[in-house]
Amino acid sequence: MSPQISAWAADQLAAARERIAPLVADRSAGVKPRLERVLAAFAAERLGVHHFASVSGYGHGDQGRELLDRVFARVLQAEAAAVRLQFVSGTHAIAAALFGVLRPGDRLLALTGRPYDTLEEVIGIRGSGQGSLAEFGIVYDELDLLADGTVDEAAIAEALALPTRMVLIQRSCGYSWRPSLSVAQIGRLVERVKALQPGCLVFVDNCYGELVELSEPTAVGADLMAGSLIKNLGGTIAPTGGYVAGRAELVEQACCRLTAPGIGSEGGTSFDLNRLLFQGLFLAPQMVSEALLCADLVAAVFDRLGFAVKPLLGGPRSDVIQAVRLGEPALLKAVCRAFQACSPVGSYLDPVPAPMPGYASELLMAGGTFIDGSTSEFSADGPLREPYVLYAQGGTHRAHAELALERALVALEQGGLLPVG
Ligand SMILES: *Cc1c(COP(=O)(O)O)cnc(C)c1O
Repeated sequence: MSPQISAWAADQLAAARERIAPLVADRSAGVKPRLERVLAAFAAERLGVHHFASVSGYGHGDQGRELLDRVFARVLQAEAAAVRLQFVSGTHAIAAALFGVLRPGDRLLALTGRPYDTLEEVIGIRGSGQGSLAEFGIVYDELDLLADGTVDEAAIAEALALPTRMVLIQRSCGYSWRPSLSVAQIGRLVERVKALQPGCLVFVDNCYGELVELSEPTAVGADLMAGSLIKNLGGTIAPTGGYVAGRAELVEQACCRLTAPGIGSEGGTSFDLNRLLFQGLFLAPQMVSEALLCADLVAAVFDRLGFAVKPLLGGPRSDVIQAVRLGEPALLKAVCRAFQACSPVGSYLDPVPAPMPGYASELLMAGGTFIDGSTSEFSADGPLREPYVLYAQGGTHRAHAELALERALVALEQGGLLPVG
């Protein structure tokens, strides 16, 4: 049962709770405009119970799927969207977008430094290269981030001196110690790119960012974006899947890659699971708000203990991730172990560093979630590499994060792992 919570741990948590109090009101108020947008989309598209079932087999003419696509497009402020359970993950949705749009000889330029781990193999800059964009003759370059982790805006013109079919912008920090990009910043980058090369497409990896701000990258000129349904927009109940959203012709190109040319967005059953996708979207504004408050709580606790946290408590957020620079593998293990022990599923498991398909470093993961791998439920992980940063994200209720943090505090205290001072 519950471990002894020391008076010290209880004090730390009480102090953290007090520090996030001003954010609670703001974040709670932020749910309303987002939910309003979701409800307006349901109303405009006349969502009814008959949209919950789906057509089996080919899935041709599936009204639920078609309505879901239009609802997502409205919520994401995009011309079109495709929401599919056939997307295995966010990586798959992003890969479909890249392979769907890019052609041999095209140049892809990452504006936000090295992309998320799993995209390295998609692009062909790590691993065997088999089936990668590189193997299909797509030229890849990246613009390094500045030392402070921001985009090197002064170097964009030079980086775009060559004809470029697409730039890639990663909104979230991913597994790197850098600030996430705000939607306004993304909008400014879109302007810069279009001024330099009007025909260059802007693609945004929108993972973890959805609904955190009031608008999405597609509202500020991004041509195409993609993300996962077991993150923000699935509202913790979508069983799997991903989405692409943006200009209609580009969404269709991504779908032609997902299914086949000629089928595009018009096939693919939803296995009678449409209700979960609609309901997940309905819950998403609330879940994202709770996840942000869980992130605030993690920041407050570790900041008080003297660890560097990113973003800073009360600083702007553009995604649901809270990074904590723990600095030592023993600390990363202790915290992940404590979080795992407080997970609803698999609490008895001891997280050990393990290789993950698509990732370069071994990953330590604490995620006893109902949906496997879901990071909109409270979870934390970190690649086992310097500087041993813990990335915490998700959380359906603050109480869960509090319990997990209490246990982590006790583990650090009892293990003699706290920084001196
Ligand atoms: C989660 C994530 C992805 C995709 O990851 P999957 O685990 O494949 O869904 C891509 N980019 C970023 C920045 C992410 O956070």
